Amino acid sequence: MALSMKRLSIIGSTGSIGTQTLDIVRRHPERFKAVVLTAGHNADLLIQQAREFSPEAVVIADKARYDDVKSALAGTATQVLVGNDALCDAATWPGVDTVVTALVGFAGLASTVAAIKAGRTIALANKETLVVAGSLIMPLAKERGVDILPIDSEHSAIFQCLQGEPQGSIEKILLTASGGPFRTFSKEALSHVTAKEALRHPNWTMGEKITIDSATMMNKGFEMIEACHLFGVKPSQIEVVVHPESVIHSAVQFCDGSVKAQLAVPDMRLPIQHALCYPERAQLDAGCIDLFRLGALHFERPDTERFPCLAYAYQAAAEGGTLPCAMNAANEVANLAFRQGTISFPRLCDTILYTMEHTPRIESPTLDDCFAIDKEARAIARSYIKDKPNP
Ligand code: NDP
Repeated sequence: MALSMKRLSIIGSTGSIGTQTLDIVRRHPERFKAVVLTAGHNADLLIQQAREFSPEAVVIADKARYDDVKSALAGTATQVLVGNDALCDAATWPGVDTVVTALVGFAGLASTVAAIKAGRTIALANKETLVVAGSLIMPLAKERGVDILPIDSEHSAIFQCLQGEPQGSIEKILLTASGGPFRTFSKEALSHVTAKEALRHPNWTMGEKITIDSATMMNKGFEMIEACHLFGVKPSQIEVVVHPESVIHSAVQFCDGSVKAQLAVPDMRLPIQHALCYPERAQLDAGCIDLFRLGALHFERPDTERFPCLAYAYQAAAEGGTLPCAMNAANEVANLAFRQGTISFPRLCDTILYTMEHTPRIESPTLDDCFAIDKEARAIARSYIKDKPNP
């Protein structure tokens, strides 16, 4: 059977997910063409990627780096676009089949919405989009007949477990979590951890923001909300299971008690490739798990006393409206402040709770409401940090 060639727009091609997506494109030139690439600030890597993949267009969001990219690509067939608005051009570029949303944070929302409105298939890495506006994004995708294929390894696992299963047969989702670098730390020890320590994730190499989110378990909270939207389940149907080996990427328990899990070595290229190839599969040199070498797998309940962000996410998901949006905004501000050494690990968590409690709530928000609440919640989080930097 002839395999279809897919034309990709990779939003955030210079990041961890973006570069791994390009690695898949590099290995399967007969299946994938990188048509548009976008970067935030990293002009040097964008230029290098443009020279290797000859896309039709590149976007550099940082206006200060436009001249560098433009002059480096002069004489090539690649168009150079600039600014945040051009990210939407990248997402709706003519002839693109699939948009890989590999941009980090709330900044990914506008281009994802534009891509869905243009009818492009979404290979979704940018989970923040579903956290802040999942109740708007999913109906929009349905209305436009757009598939949203998960790149997050847990959601890819769940998606794979659900293939061929009847609608409504899910009893619960077992969402696995590595527990991050501080899994075994006491509450007292957590008050002294640094961003440098947090950035040493035991099993995954990822962008800095998500690595800190993994250390606080905010990432797992985001994934729980992402799963509710993607798979149409309630927060109470998602059980987080700490599984330090990161071999089981998640599992689904069905109404007859049967549990299906997806297992693989922890390599993000696998879920990325799965989303790009779906419904086909392709070879990958990631290696296979060796159950005999592994010997045993371990499971623990999450501890929301030490990692309260997970509890905040359940609270936000249960309440809905703009509360998850405010939570996300606060997390983006506090995560950055922690990376910059301005606030401690406990203060990071406190900032999120404080912002959730003090940001106005809208029950059935529009997209414009999400943008407004994001802005307001960021301002509240920043002033909280300024007034109370550390306990
Ligand atoms: P990175 O920080 O490594 O990369 C982010 C990308 O987005 C870069 O290309 C960056 O450009 C670009 N970018 C960031 N901010 C802006 C902005 N304001 N405007 C335009 N471009 C911007 O992140 P990751 O690849 O780790 O994560 C991307 C998304 O995927 C996140 O939502 C994350 O939660 C999700 N994810 C990541 C996983 C991983 O293994 N990394 C696993 C599962 C999900 P530049 O670097 O040029 O500034």
